[in-house]
Amino acid sequence: MDTEAEQRIYLSSPHMSGDEQDYIREAFATNWIAPLGPNVEAFERQVADYVGVQGAVALSSGTAALHLALKYLGVNRGDSVICSSLTFSASANPIIYEGGVPVFIDADPSNWNMSPQALARALEELKKTGKLPKAAIIVDLYGQSASMEPLLELLEHYQVPVIEDAAEALGATYQGKPCGSFGKFGVFSFNGNKIITTSGGGMLVSDNLKALDKVRFWATQARDKARHYQHSEIGYNYRLSNVLAGIGRGQMKVIDERVNTRRAIFDRYYAALNKVDGLDFMPEASYGRSNRWLTTLTLDPEKTGVTVNDVLIALEEHNIEARPVWKPLHLQPVFKDCPYYPHEIGKSVSDELFAKGICLPSGTNMTEAEQDRVIEIVSRLLK
Ligand SMILES: *Cc1c(COP(=O)(O)O)cnc(C)c1O
Repeated sequence: MDTEAEQRIYLSSPHMSGDEQDYIREAFATNWIAPLGPNVEAFERQVADYVGVQGAVALSSGTAALHLALKYLGVNRGDSVICSSLTFSASANPIIYEGGVPVFIDADPSNWNMSPQALARALEELKKTGKLPKAAIIVDLYGQSASMEPLLELLEHYQVPVIEDAAEALGATYQGKPCGSFGKFGVFSFNGNKIITTSGGGMLVSDNLKALDKVRFWATQARDKARHYQHSEIGYNYRLSNVLAGIGRGQMKVIDERVNTRRAIFDRYYAALNKVDGLDFMPEASYGRSNRWLTTLTLDPEKTGVTVNDVLIALEEHNIEARPVWKPLHLQPVFKDCPYYPHEIGKSVSDELFAKGICLPSGTNMTEAEQDRVIEIVSRLLK
């Protein structure tokens, strides 16, 4: 192995544009190191304009954004909240913070996002018990929009407000409209592994500026307007710092470039591996354009002769990081008592995707040679 071949390849590592330092330097030069400040405001404006919504609040994480959106929608102890099952645990954890009960919905095999037919069954049943959900969290998985039209129609019919968890989907679209703009609230994450990053951070976006003001208030310790420290509500320390927002400003300049690169990485994997019988890439639904945050595929062990685990181990032996598809939340020990609605009665799509799915390294700073290393190892196993 030469030295280049020994370099670790990560699943999705931060990729700076080079302009971040300018904004950070400015923050230091003006001693604007505290939370809030000009970088925060500019970053919020940039993201809101990019997504095509009225406003945005920069927060310390995507999880914090989900939490305050649920709080704004009035989720209280014992309230049901609909949530996609095939996602990262942070999509559902904030439901628990507010004392709510997640009701998990399976994935649709055609796009791996929330299944409209499973959602319909869930809403019918919840209606019968007289406990319609307080909110619904629709996730855009791996950078692909959920099937918004049928989902939103159902939720509108039952008057359930929607939070779009677009943490993985900045830069993706549904029918030409940006992901994050479909619910009452949209959520983004700028964690280190996301398509752009502030090292850690998140954003809540909405057309409802009054709601965003309330969220901004809660996120800055709920300080009432008074000279002394006065509090009539419980607050949170959830704001993004002006230094980190500077990183975000530099990153937003290259968001479209990052999407194109992620898609090009997908295309190279696709060209090299698509013909393998029993290997299927995550489909891109015709209704939108994915940002292909992670290249994800399924392996049928009977046809390919290998399991996801075989591939993960082989890649790890060559110092390459890959991951199984998210373990569905209805299968997580911590959520084991929560209701779950599979795509079809007796047929859970997300269980199958978890058993057969793998995410390949997809960081935009990967070289073509690094991608070839991944392709070579996977191809060798398949033969
Ligand atoms: C990353 C992620 C989150 C959480 O975002 P953080 O900024 O890490 O708190 C929420 N939902 C999904 C789908 C994610 O991928």
